[in-house]
Amino acid sequence: MRHSQDYSIETLAVRAGQERSQFNEHSEALYLTSSFVFTSAAQAAARFSGEDEGNVYSRFTNPTVTAFQDRLAALEGAEACVATASGMSAILSLVMALCSSGDHIVASTGLFGATQQLLGTLMPRFGIQTSFVSQTDAAAWGAATRTQTKLFFLETPSNPLTEIADIAALVAIAHAQGILVVVDNCFCTPILQRPLDLGADLVVHSATKFLDGQGRVLGGAVAGPKRLTDEVFKFLRTAGPTLSAFNAWVLLKGLETLQIRLQAQSARALQLAQWLESHPRVARVHYPGLPSHPQFELARRQQSSGGAIVSFVVKGARAEAWKVVDSCRLLSITANLGDTKTTLTHPASTTHGRITPEQRAAAGITENLLRVAVGLEAVVDLQNDLETGLSSI
Ligand SMILES: *Cc1c(COP(=O)(O)O)cnc(C)c1O
Repeated sequence: MRHSQDYSIETLAVRAGQERSQFNEHSEALYLTSSFVFTSAAQAAARFSGEDEGNVYSRFTNPTVTAFQDRLAALEGAEACVATASGMSAILSLVMALCSSGDHIVASTGLFGATQQLLGTLMPRFGIQTSFVSQTDAAAWGAATRTQTKLFFLETPSNPLTEIADIAALVAIAHAQGILVVVDNCFCTPILQRPLDLGADLVVHSATKFLDGQGRVLGGAVAGPKRLTDEVFKFLRTAGPTLSAFNAWVLLKGLETLQIRLQAQSARALQLAQWLESHPRVARVHYPGLPSHPQFELARRQQSSGGAIVSFVVKGARAEAWKVVDSCRLLSITANLGDTKTTLTHPASTTHGRITPEQRAAAGITENLLRVAVGLEAVVDLQNDLETGLSSI
């Protein structure tokens, strides 16, 4: 391929990052090898010193992983990308690479549960403190900033309430004080939202979700300017939570269908959200593509569509919400998301079950809230499956 800026995102998703071997294979090759052989002692020395950029050992360089990194970088409009074993290892690696003891992070309260644990519980043991503030209150981010603040960490839309953080507004606050902005772009993927274009410094991914899209492998990535991803790479090379070649190969294939999947899943999610909003047993629907969403206009500016995650409040309490879950025969009862198979979860007793009832109430995770991650089934079948439970409450 020529330079990635010459092509549109659909083309990059299918072709970016591919380097054919001497066999000129059409599809991307899977290099299942832990190490690489050198032609001479001098070449080995040059590879180890970094003077020669070739492959050494798959903990830090593997051609299949490189192809995935280059393709995702092209999609995010990033200069560089490093892949990791999971989404959590991407977040861990980036904090370990960019923060030291004494540093401070400002993060949104609506973060993925394990990210909250990592920043709120694990990192303080190593002297890195995090203040959690509301996703939607830009002024609170400025107020929480200290002289030691290194990073703003946010996820938009949030899980499960789909609250939108104003990326450009938070970037303006952060950059005025020399703070880096990191966006977890898991829910939208670069197909629906490109945080780097809005001024963010780094994007992190759980590739386990939409990037794979078919529930097969774990993976993660950090994308942004090379001077920052190089720091993450140095941590990864030493500490080791890197992506396996096999998972990289699966994810490369996932990226090839990312655009059509996201568009189709998002279109189905909008239809399902509209249907839920008109349902007499549903009290409220949270979906950024609905005009009733409090940040509909911001979502319209920042994302190219509402995405595939819809949450809704049933009339009643936990018993009624569980009845809807238990009546489903098609939707998978699982907390995973981003799959072609639609999933249904009751956040208060699963993903948000470990926090206190007071924290749940503050976060708006009520007992009658359900979250659907819409896949590729026909909307009518999803509606019929949910209707069985809804009509019985
Ligand atoms: C799942 C998820 C993660 C963690 O990713 P893993 O691949 O499970 O480690 C991080 N952020 C968000 C938004 C997620 O949904």
